[in-house]
Amino acid sequence: AQEYYSKQKTLELRAIHIPTCTELFYRENPLKIIRCKGTYMYDELGNKYLDCINNVAQVGHCHPYVNKQIYKQMCLCATNNRYLHDNTVILAEKISKTLPKGLEQVFYTNSASEANDLAIRLAREYTGAFDILVLDNAYHGHLISVVELSTYIYKRMTNHAKIPEHVHVIPTPDVYRGKFRDIDYNFDEAKLCQLYVDEIRRTVEEAEARGRRIAIFFIETLQSCGGQIIYPKGYLKKTFDYLQSKGILCLADEVQTGFGRSGTHFWSFDSYEEGVIPDFVTLGKSMGNGFPVAALVTRKDITSKFDEDGVEYFNTYGGNPVSCRAAIAVLEVIENEHLQESAYTVGLYFLSELKELEKKYTLIGDVRGRGLFVGIEIVSDREKRTPGIEEAKEIRQKFRENFVIISLDGPDYNVVKFKSPMTFSIEDVDYFCSTLEKILKDMEKK
Ligand code: PMP
Repeated sequence: AQEYYSKQKTLELRAIHIPTCTELFYRENPLKIIRCKGTYMYDELGNKYLDCINNVAQVGHCHPYVNKQIYKQMCLCATNNRYLHDNTVILAEKISKTLPKGLEQVFYTNSASEANDLAIRLAREYTGAFDILVLDNAYHGHLISVVELSTYIYKRMTNHAKIPEHVHVIPTPDVYRGKFRDIDYNFDEAKLCQLYVDEIRRTVEEAEARGRRIAIFFIETLQSCGGQIIYPKGYLKKTFDYLQSKGILCLADEVQTGFGRSGTHFWSFDSYEEGVIPDFVTLGKSMGNGFPVAALVTRKDITSKFDEDGVEYFNTYGGNPVSCRAAIAVLEVIENEHLQESAYTVGLYFLSELKELEKKYTLIGDVRGRGLFVGIEIVSDREKRTPGIEEAKEIRQKFRENFVIISLDGPDYNVVKFKSPMTFSIEDVDYFCSTLEKILKDMEKK
């Protein structure tokens, strides 16, 4: 009764109407999901899947409290941000309380791409500079302005598009696979941090010598699409301090990593070291638990540039009372159900179990994580750290056969990407790890 068309018919119609380039998981045999609850998804046959990747369903799929608040608000009023409404200010107040002092001005958007695009506009107005600094393998969205920053996308295009002149790309501080690797520097984290910070300094100085001026630096506070990367300690603070001392604004993209995911802190930029103070913070995905809502948070001195220049901001759906109500409900549930604390304890247990598997199976090159943001690097040669591209594909397929949904990412698609709903439990970890062990054992036997 929950299906309108048979799966075959859905596939046929999708082939006709939905551009093939539109992303689809398991393209050879896609899943048709018709019902979700908590950490689980159900297909048309009633099969139950463990969802390890949907960080939009932050407080669990189809959370009854969140859904009820959305419905109630939708029945009351669903206007726009041109009218006063308590939800708009209640949400902004709640968000700014979680952020460093001064970050209290909130632009509401429908997607994080829009929020990041707006940050570029504001940074250009504020600094008078034009250029953008970004990490390699970054992903910041799908609008022209932010696709240009996402080398992650460029590298996957057949005709590698040229990175525009105003975009300056610095190496990702990935100590496992990046330009400077832990094994080559005796696992000295402080040294690795400094080497990567020096790269930024060099890039900025070279750009300036060519007469370019940088307005803004974009960084995902844990790099997700680039392969679940955790930066060396000190990197964020040193980078921000250096750039901000030069008048370059720093944006923390918390789209994949915010709302308690890191376990220790509500925002991942806070999870490295003290005193990291972004000029902009981008929120999205998990913010509405599936209801479209995103935001850009910044300071008054930055937004007042728009006032001075007579720019008025309007976004048809951005900040409507319903999407704000959804986001308020998400914040309430994270607090009431102690989901950040759960991400911390479940995440620690998960990481320790994965480290045990890493000791036993050479197909695992590295495991890294913070809370419920975890990456498992699959390698075909552990010594050489050769990306296990085919092996990773096989693991993904076998996971699916065992009703576990993961995705692969990183420049070589060899990193098992984990960023589940925050309801992921100890039992879910056990199921995940026993399934992974079964898969690895079979593969290593071969
Ligand atoms: N930033 C990051 C880090 C993201 O992962 C994404 C989406 N995957 C975006 C920005 C863009 O978000 P949206 O799809 O809501 O525009």
